[in-house]
Amino acid sequence: MEATEFIWMNGQFVKWNDAKVHVLTHSLHYGSAVFEGIRVYDTPKGPAVFRLTEHIKRLFDSAKIIGMEVKNTEEELIEVTKELLRKNNLKEGYIRPLLYYGYGKMGLDSKDLVAEASVAAWPWGAYLGEEGKLNGIKVKISPYSRHFPVPELNHAKVSGFYANSTLAKMDAIKGGFDEAIMPDLDGNIAECTGENLFIIKNNEVITPTTKNALVGITRASIIQILKDEGYTVREEKITKEALFEADGCFMTGTAAEVTPVISVDNKPIGNGKVGEITKLVQQKYENIIHGKDDMYISWLDFVNE
Ligand code: PMP
Repeated sequence: MEATEFIWMNGQFVKWNDAKVHVLTHSLHYGSAVFEGIRVYDTPKGPAVFRLTEHIKRLFDSAKIIGMEVKNTEEELIEVTKELLRKNNLKEGYIRPLLYYGYGKMGLDSKDLVAEASVAAWPWGAYLGEEGKLNGIKVKISPYSRHFPVPELNHAKVSGFYANSTLAKMDAIKGGFDEAIMPDLDGNIAECTGENLFIIKNNEVITPTTKNALVGITRASIIQILKDEGYTVREEKITKEALFEADGCFMTGTAAEVTPVISVDNKPIGNGKVGEITKLVQQKYENIIHGKDDMYISWLDFVNE
């Protein structure tokens, strides 16, 4: 990864190499941390963070869901994020806020612990590769399901739960695929390891409900864009059969943006090429994030304003 100069940690901007924690950090042992993934893009009016307020709100919601006490406020982390980008002179890249339990107490009991906070940012290109973004990726249905002990945890980005996603991702990569689609416990499609999924059938767009998937901010944006373009978008159960019979498929996420899927388990989706609706969504999204579509300008938080 490409380092930047500063990382913000517990109220201070520290040098990238000095942003360290103790090996007995609670969250390192038990996954008791929550995080976000956000992107900043260059626009004609300078760098802008895509839907920053929504991401920081979801970070605090994640903390609330696991009962984590946070000293910082949402407003503070929004300002810190923008200041970090200015200090690092980062125009395009990825932003990773993290709330975690630090050093001082061991054992699963997190009573009386208060979250420590950090925000890092660095340059990061297409998560699934430029080639994948252009010509589509090959995915497999994972043997690892996306499921949680209680339903509300689906909507929290808790570090520990991503052990499941990394297993699914590794399994896919080792099998020669680019990404994994994770089923829910009933065998229907939930989402991907770090992305939401959409399919296209007869010019209608369908995405699984968020019962077993993260309430993706890109997902919500794409639903809005498609509806504004006059498409019908349905949020409903997607069986594996429906996925194999789809005319088109794409995944969405902050890191992956809009990435077309051209085959599942080595079977082509539709004609095995990137379809028209996927191309349209990708094009609109690219314009919006780069500040070239006034209709959605409120989704951008300009760093230098
Ligand atoms: N699902 C999971 C499991 C994720 O980790 C992410 C990435 N945050 C997404 C979906 C996509 O969410 P977003 O569009 O908000 O980045």
